[in-house]
Amino acid sequence: MKNITDKLNRPIKDLRISVMDTCNYRCPYCMPEDKFDENYQFLKPQERLSFDEIYRIVKVFAGFGVNKIRLTGGEPLLRKNLPELITKLKSINGIKDIALTTNGQLLQKQLPQLIDAGLDRVNISLDTIDKDLYYQMSGNKGHLKVVLAAIESARKSSLKSVKLNCVVQIGVNDDQILSLLKKYQDTDVVVRFIEFMDVGNKNGWQKDSVLHFKEILQHIEKEWKVNAIDPNYKGEVAARYKYQDHCGEIGFITSISKPFCRDCSRARLSADGKLYTCLFASEAFDLRKHLRNEDDIFLKQYIQNVWQNREDRYSEVRHQLKGRKDKIEMYVIGG
Ligand code: SAM
Ligand code: SF4
Ligand code: SF4
Repeated sequence: MKNITDKLNRPIKDLRISVMDTCNYRCPYCMPEDKFDENYQFLKPQERLSFDEIYRIVKVFAGFGVNKIRLTGGEPLLRKNLPELITKLKSINGIKDIALTTNGQLLQKQLPQLIDAGLDRVNISLDTIDKDLYYQMSGNKGHLKVVLAAIESARKSSLKSVKLNCVVQIGVNDDQILSLLKKYQDTDVVVRFIEFMDVGNKNGWQKDSVLHFKEILQHIEKEWKVNAIDPNYKGEVAARYKYQDHCGEIGFITSISKPFCRDCSRARLSADGKLYTCLFASEAFDLRKHLRNEDDIFLKQYIQNVWQNREDRYSEVRHQLKGRKDKIEMYVIGG
């Protein structure tokens, strides 16, 4: 194995792979229905990387020290035969952990096969436990009951962890924080609050809609005593807290108020094989073109060059780049 670092001395450890660009939801903060309507051109099947192509890429990344893979989308569970991909990736030397990020609508039925194939962990997006608000926040597509049942199945399964992702928006679901926490208090499900981010250009992001980590924490502290705990490992995205008088963990993803670029060791691959070195990137590196025309030696050198020239730290310099209009959309790279 050859470890490589970027221009800011950050290694590469984590690869997030979007296996599907389409989605069965239309969350207004990600794929607003008026912009992603029936005329929107998603990828054609042949434009998406095949499982063999993803396997080839992951083998190269594993050779550079990547040991964690997250499968995401769009909605990854819309991709047919996903367990087949998980089995393939799990067989790669060095790949220790495979996680999935999903809206959970299609999870329950697929869960046993995903686990049998080697899935280690799952993150399920859950912005509220109010049935009507849930429906509305999914763009009138998702049913809360189905997702809650999937979370229960995941909890009882052999998965190593089940985390819930809640994107908090002022005036939309900021009054849902306590009920969400109460539901999963004293369980091993980790609830994580994500600051609403200015990813892409289509979701109408306004800084006034962002509820900052400190404000979320203050809100929680009115109800319960919580204490900060150490990260599980260097570069962990979420700040971790635990209750003083209850079991359970709470996480905060503070991309806006407390950027964590300094330890960012993640690369992202879109469903059509473009490599992004930052969530807010505007430049992409076309791995599919090289995969389909070149050998693995070329691919290795190409990826090494991309990483060694990386100097992204968007969240730290966000204020200087205000109004940039060329950012990649969240549904393309999956968070
Ligand atoms: N469809 C899957 C899901 O919703 O879990 C996977 C892809 S989705 C793009 C991944 C995560 O990004 C979700 O937890 C979603 O809530 C989050 N997300 C989407 N747009 C966001 C934004 N503007 N700011 C913060 N998080 C966002
Ligand atoms: Fe789909 Fe996930 Fe985006 Fe919602 S957040 S529209 S579920 S990709
Ligand atoms: Fe990493 Fe870019 Fe996010 Fe900073 S802004 S943490 S470099 S993805």
